[in-house]
Amino acid sequence: MPVFDAHQRPLRNLRLSVTDRCNLRCQYCMPEADYLWLPREDILQFEEIDRLVDQFLELGVDKVRLTGGEPLLRRDLPDLVTRLARKPRIRDFAMTTNAVLLAPVAGALKAAGLHRLTISLDTLQPDRFVKLARFDELGRVIAGIDAAVDTFPGFKIDTVMIRGVNDDELIPLLDFARERRAEIRFIEYMDVGGATSWSMQQVVSRQDMLATIAAHHGPVEPVPETSSAPAERYRLADGTVFGIIASTTEPFCKSCDRSRLTADGLWYLCLYGARGVDLRGPLRGGASDEALRELVTGVWHARTDRGAEARLSLRERSPLIPVNTLRRDPHLEMHTRGG
Ligand code: SAM
Ligand code: SF4
Ligand code: SF4
Repeated sequence: MPVFDAHQRPLRNLRLSVTDRCNLRCQYCMPEADYLWLPREDILQFEEIDRLVDQFLELGVDKVRLTGGEPLLRRDLPDLVTRLARKPRIRDFAMTTNAVLLAPVAGALKAAGLHRLTISLDTLQPDRFVKLARFDELGRVIAGIDAAVDTFPGFKIDTVMIRGVNDDELIPLLDFARERRAEIRFIEYMDVGGATSWSMQQVVSRQDMLATIAAHHGPVEPVPETSSAPAERYRLADGTVFGIIASTTEPFCKSCDRSRLTADGLWYLCLYGARGVDLRGPLRGGASDEALRELVTGVWHARTDRGAEARLSLRERSPLIPVNTLRRDPHLEMHTRGG
């Protein structure tokens, strides 16, 4: 039975952050020198994730995405994929990764039953990659992308566009994706938890991106969409399709059916939500499946979150959360909640 929130949005889409750790330090997500990690004993075991996912599936979730942190840092991830892929209620089973560790495991992930893959890529320039992500890993990322071309054809590439940082690569990245038959989605820079150096001046709006692409590739036509997916999709004259996720300037909270489970079992109803609902406590405390489902249902019924719209209505806008607050509560971080 589908469960709806206070704005009639269904509970359909679950993002599972399987670790808060990462092997990159993207400046829009983890720009600080050090981080407080979730205690190891709090991290959900695969059996625990499995049981929680079952409850969400009973309540109407049919889209599951593995994320993080960097999900490929989670040991034996293909085993978790195998477990979840066996669940027929998961209609769409995807993962978002930075691809540093992808090449050697892409085949195993496919064989384990993962349906789709999204790879984050913000630059094609090795020096810029180091500036943006602090590690010299573009080579391994490209190797991961090459592996995805064969194992996950039609995979997606996600690019956060930041003015003065990588906005001059809009066209090269679009061409790079097209050559690999990948669908690229350009994401507006968001003022979420980890983005402690965010400013509105650095946001490249959807309108600006479309103008740049049209100036280079000619007319761009919108692709009619019926799903609740955040990306608006567009087609170039040669048939190339790309997306833009305008989370900052034109948020899509109205149809948001997404929630996030952190690696330690806190359930967040919105990327901007201040607090998560503890599911680990009841799970480890012996709650029955029915009790877990009742908890989730009650919380989702009361959901009114429209975080990005609320941010948009502010006249003065700066990073969402001060660094000192983030240092005290890692759950406010994007790399803990999962993107
Ligand atoms: N580590 C994996 C990766 O980078 O693909 C998965 C987790 S990462 C948090 C998921 C997505 O969140 C990435 O595509 C990243 O670009 C996006 N993200 C992180 N911080 C962001 C920000 N400030 N604005 C927009 N997107 C952001
Ligand atoms: Fe970058 Fe993803 Fe790691 Fe954040 S979690 S620093 S976006 S690779
Ligand atoms: Fe959904 Fe919150 Fe993002 Fe709006 S800001 S689209 S409600 S997660």
